[in-house]
Amino acid sequence: MKLILLGPPGAGKGTQCKRITEKYGLAHLSSGDILRAERAAGTELGRKAQSYMDSGGLVPDDLIIDMMIGAIKKAGAKGYVLDGFPRTVVQAEGLDAALKKAGERIDAIVSLEVPDEAILDRMTGRRSCPKCGAVYHIVNLKPKVDGQCDKGCGPLMQRKDDSPEVVSNRLKTYHEQTAAVLGYYQRNRSRIIQINADQPIDEVSQAIFTALGRLGR
Ligand code: ADP
Ligand code: AMP
Repeated sequence: MKLILLGPPGAGKGTQCKRITEKYGLAHLSSGDILRAERAAGTELGRKAQSYMDSGGLVPDDLIIDMMIGAIKKAGAKGYVLDGFPRTVVQAEGLDAALKKAGERIDAIVSLEVPDEAILDRMTGRRSCPKCGAVYHIVNLKPKVDGQCDKGCGPLMQRKDDSPEVVSNRLKTYHEQTAAVLGYYQRNRSRIIQINADQPIDEVSQAIFTALGRLGR
């Protein structure tokens, strides 16, 4: 199965991708996670991406398309969920062209819908494990011990781009450049699953699983 998760930053894409990929044995391909790993490794791509990520803008399309097509090829036949990509219509077109060339197609687009008002609290309260990538929230999804990863990796950290100023830029970027991606898939008559993501995490997961179940998955 090949899925795309769409939604604003903080909608819960990473959280739900983790659950979907565990249930269906798919690869989780998060453009944000891949970029952060490139930065941590000090690669040329990581250095090029740095200033865009820190300010809440988008990394240039050509860099992202190459990076994500590479990740898709590496995932191989087991299927995947794309998280954070495509984020512009140009990226969606680039993905379509590569899939067409490979004779493949996306099975469904899952669109997580959350009002802007819910986002700031989710993002400023997000805490992540720098070692295993697990994501928590100081109120909504607390670790067992405050500030520590449940898997014994050590201290959790707050992403620099989850500060209130950068979050407001990221939301602006989302409305200006990313929201149009849903319209692109609507025009292409892709199968779109719209999910109310303004409800507790388990209920969002349940709604996604029920909808995927209706597809015969
Ligand atoms: P995204 O990948 O879309 O940026 P995340 O999955 O990292 O979003 O979620 C952002 C933050 O909001 C995390 O701290 C997460 O624990 C929390 N969160 C995710 N889904 C929900 C939800 N349905 N209700 C409340 N908090 C949520
Ligand atoms: P995320 O982890 O999805 O919130 O992404 C963190 C940051 O990485 C974003 O604010 C962008 O700067 C950059 N980024 C992630 N995915 C993309 C993408 N598909 N296109 C452009 N920039 C991206």
